[in-house]
Amino acid sequence: MIIPPLFKSIFVFCVLINHLFTDFEGFQTNPANGHPEFRFISEKQEIMGGFSQARFVIQQMGGEFTQDPELSAYVAYVGHRIAAVSDRPYLPYDFVIVNDSKPNAMCLPGGIILISHRMLLELKSEAELAAILAHEIGHASARHCAKGIERRWIFDLIGDPFALIPRWFGLGMTRNEEMEADYLGMEYMARAGYDVRAVISIADRRRHLVKKSLLPLELFKSHPSHDTRLQANLRHAEKFPLSGDREEETYQTMVYWYWVIRQV
Ligand SMILES: [Zn+2]
Repeated sequence: MIIPPLFKSIFVFCVLINHLFTDFEGFQTNPANGHPEFRFISEKQEIMGGFSQARFVIQQMGGEFTQDPELSAYVAYVGHRIAAVSDRPYLPYDFVIVNDSKPNAMCLPGGIILISHRMLLELKSEAELAAILAHEIGHASARHCAKGIERRWIFDLIGDPFALIPRWFGLGMTRNEEMEADYLGMEYMARAGYDVRAVISIADRRRHLVKKSLLPLELFKSHPSHDTRLQANLRHAEKFPLSGDREEETYQTMVYWYWVIRQV
């Protein structure tokens, strides 16, 4: 059914008015970066929105990977280890492996983190898994997903008659948000005791493989895709100690065990 733009704007306007008189939060401080921000949706709405979207998004990404419960528990263990030291440790974090055939990871509002099984196969150590999950937890901590919803509401309300607003704006993360999630992710990795250099090893491998055209460009799309961003991450990584857990053997045993026993 096609909804006329005027009715759509009226609907969104009514939703916003409803929020003004119910869970409206107004000016608040961002829990991750400390900046003041104007909130249209409350934390409760953010969490409920994430859970209501989750089933649909997981289906879109090939459904949940349930064949290896030990691997699911391992990913959840790494995720919760980082979430516990994040700036929003109280969110109801959930870490779900999905069957998406592309290497992919994403965060839904309220702390639901999805990572594709294919992505797990591309990583080499627990520290690299921690790097991917920490980046997504950075998005959750800084309310990037909630801000995406707020942007979408505003654009739905005001419309875009001249198509001036790029299609992607308000739907995904902005470049600044990606860089902030990179920084926050490294901070959380260090707090959780992981080797922050895993962020650089992922980026280096990606650059090498893309250069040789061995991998699709969307690989590690939630990680540095521009040289400037990579250089910024390199500089930021230098601030952390050159130590921390890498756990290469543990990771490879956990990730490949299911495939080994299937071959027997
Ligand atoms: Zn991201």
